Amino acid sequence: MACGADAVVALAQPRGPFLAGLPHDDRGFVPVDDAGRVAGAVDVWAVGDSTDHEVKQGGLAVQQADVAAADVVRRLGVQDPLPPPSRTTTLRAALLDGRGTLYLRAEHDGAGAHWRTITSREALWWPPAKIAGGHLAGYLAEREPVA
Ligand SMILES: Cc1cc2nc3c(=O)[nH]c(=O)nc-3n(C[C@H](O)[C@H](O)[C@H](O)COP(=O)(O)OP(=O)(O)OC[C@H]3O[C@@H](n4cnc5c(N)ncnc54)[C@H](O)[C@@H]3O)c2cc1C
Repeated sequence: MACGADAVVALAQPRGPFLAGLPHDDRGFVPVDDAGRVAGAVDVWAVGDSTDHEVKQGGLAVQQADVAAADVVRRLGVQDPLPPPSRTTTLRAALLDGRGTLYLRAEHDGAGAHWRTITSREALWWPPAKIAGGHLAGYLAEREPVA
């Protein structure tokens, strides 16, 4: 029986890499704890899109990497010369619309489901790059200045 529709929307489903030798959930993502330690594996850390964090984004991957690197340093018993990474997760996005760039920032303090969000036409972070956060944004900006 044929049935009509005004519109059809197809959305991609996130799928992990099913990395051999590492645990993964049923979607193929590597399960990690808050420090990036891989569940069920000894001295293995993972960050970024391959992990089971719900939101996949480069800026978040950078923050996860800072937390994981600090945990590796602690595990090695090395005195970390850098301040401990923030417990606050910050999602930064630049939306290019018909009027220019709209900067979006949402902060999560790690407790509950509450995000504090801010939007602005002025840059909310510096450098105002697409991949924002940690040392990576500054490193990239030095090599490819933001217009
Ligand atoms: C169209 C698009 C636009 C985006 N825009 C933004 C944005 O503006 N800002 C932002 O913050 N994020 C953005 N993202 C998301 C961002 O690209 C990802 O979140 C980020 O790249 C994740 O980094 P990652 O290092 O975890 O994974 P990746 O960048 O995917 O790196 C994984 C690397 O591992 C390699 N690899 C895979 N399997 C294996 C294997 N078995 N062995 C060895 N190597 C392997 C891959 O080739 C790849 O080089 C965007 C994504 C898309 C698709």
